[in-house]
Amino acid sequence: MNDCTTWDNSQIFTSLNDPKIENTLKLAREKSVALTADANLVAECLTDLRAKEIEAIPAVQNILKECQSIGIELMTVSTYCNCLVSVDAKNEAAKQLLATVSKIFTELGKLSTPVDLFITGASETAITLLKKDSEILDMSFEIDHNRQLRDFMLNNSEEKLTKGLAEDGLHAWGKLYFTLAGNLECNVDGETLGFANASSLLRQGDRPKREAAWKGINAAWEVHSETVASILNSLNGWRLEENQFRSSIKEFHYLDKSCHQSHITRKTLNSLMETTFENRQVGQRAHGAMAKALGIKTLAPWDILSPAPKRGTAGKSYSFSEAIDTIAEAYSGLAPEMGEFVHMMHKKNWIDAKETEARSPGAYCTGFAKQREPRVFMTFDGSMGNVITLAHELGHAYHSWVMRDMPISKTHYAMTTAETASIFGETLVRDFLFEKCQNDDQKFEIAWQDAESAGAMLCNIPARFEFEKSMIEKRKERPLSPSELKEQMGQAWKLWYGDSLSQYDEMYWASKLHFSISQLGFYNYPYLFGYLFSLGIYAQRENFGDDFNQLYIKILRDTGSMNAVDLIKKHLSKSIEEKEFWQGSLDIVEKSVARFERLV
Ligand SMILES: [Zn+2]
Repeated sequence: MNDCTTWDNSQIFTSLNDPKIENTLKLAREKSVALTADANLVAECLTDLRAKEIEAIPAVQNILKECQSIGIELMTVSTYCNCLVSVDAKNEAAKQLLATVSKIFTELGKLSTPVDLFITGASETAITLLKKDSEILDMSFEIDHNRQLRDFMLNNSEEKLTKGLAEDGLHAWGKLYFTLAGNLECNVDGETLGFANASSLLRQGDRPKREAAWKGINAAWEVHSETVASILNSLNGWRLEENQFRSSIKEFHYLDKSCHQSHITRKTLNSLMETTFENRQVGQRAHGAMAKALGIKTLAPWDILSPAPKRGTAGKSYSFSEAIDTIAEAYSGLAPEMGEFVHMMHKKNWIDAKETEARSPGAYCTGFAKQREPRVFMTFDGSMGNVITLAHELGHAYHSWVMRDMPISKTHYAMTTAETASIFGETLVRDFLFEKCQNDDQKFEIAWQDAESAGAMLCNIPARFEFEKSMIEKRKERPLSPSELKEQMGQAWKLWYGDSLSQYDEMYWASKLHFSISQLGFYNYPYLFGYLFSLGIYAQRENFGDDFNQLYIKILRDTGSMNAVDLIKKHLSKSIEEKEFWQGSLDIVEKSVARFERLV
């Protein structure tokens, strides 16, 4: 696509040699040294917190504020570097700088350990005094949220030791996985391809090629199955051991930990998963109809990401500006300023979409913390799927844009609500395109996307959740062998996919990188949450009429200062802890699958 933009970040830093970068790092190091005295003072107070907590408050306030301001500066540098690496994975200078920034962050993390313990352990009176400072008051949600972990904290030296050991322990296992994946060689029809390139073939229209890619990927992972099994055993063994260590007052369950990170309750997670399980046939029906459209009896695992088979006049290719105009027009249907936002992102060159040589795969939205400017990265090829991806990422960008005037501490939303605006943006564009279709062939192409999402969300994502849960339960007894992991994955797929697939992807525990992310367990259900959560909000569009846009912005603005349960209670007077909320969204999914079935 010739008219794709590349991003212009020269206003942020002129280059990696910009003296502003060196200054930022120097200042960050100096400040972190200067904070040591305060950190020691807080650590000292922890020895008898009830007696000394008031004394520690000014130091705690200072560390919190300084760490936030250094963090904003450092994040700006690391975003700048990440942008360079995305466009050119071989940019060694940018990678080195990233490692330097990450090291300063680790140091800051150690400094703030006593503060974390103060926050979880101090009395209500002390916390009220702490919040007398207006900047700290802005951090209220985070402070109160972290205080919920008070029963699971260790002491200062134990916390530091855990953090320190994790670098070359827990996180090293995660890094090992990414090293393996980066060097994986997949044999696809006699051709040797890297993992990312082989994976992208799974999204191609050529069915035999997809099958060859899937088989090549799995055979490549099979070679490393013992290693990946060790990675999963170590990651989960480490987490279980740490949770156990933190369970001296009451059990620190791995799902409680995940729900806390996701800003939801266990009741919410249960309702979400149970309601989805009751509706899994909707996802299975989507697969049945997709198989029919592909002219095969049953869908194979290498078909679940297939694009829509070409029909008649459908399959239009979009230029980049056409994609921008389409998304802007669709967004404007909700509010003119939303459409203007899309044009602004385009005009300011805040989107990088043009193919480059050593480009990273995937798409994402990021932003410069200091300037409060979003950026979008993707590789645009003109397909309908790509237009939807762009709409998704611009949805994320809009989310941060409507929060740009707020204190940064009120903008940290969890993964669950992070996917609200993105999927909302996708839905707006899909509905808009569907309305504009002139014939059934064009409608079919869009409805295919709905069906694929339904299949992914109602079968694939829950199967990942199921697998992870059963793996952890078994890991409590002992490490698992590759063949046991295969069996568990097969069972999880059977439970959710039923007979809607010709076979199950038993090597998925190795090929899906999400299981090996060391920073976070259960990386998967937030997608399902975001999908249904967003549809639930979208469904209110008619009920609220002209007021809906304002309501939508208010919801987005509150995502960083409320948990998801309170957010929906406040704005929609609904409870996401009840199955009814999720069923409402699943009914919308059912309608879109039924529409697809009719078109097939
Ligand atoms: Zn997203």
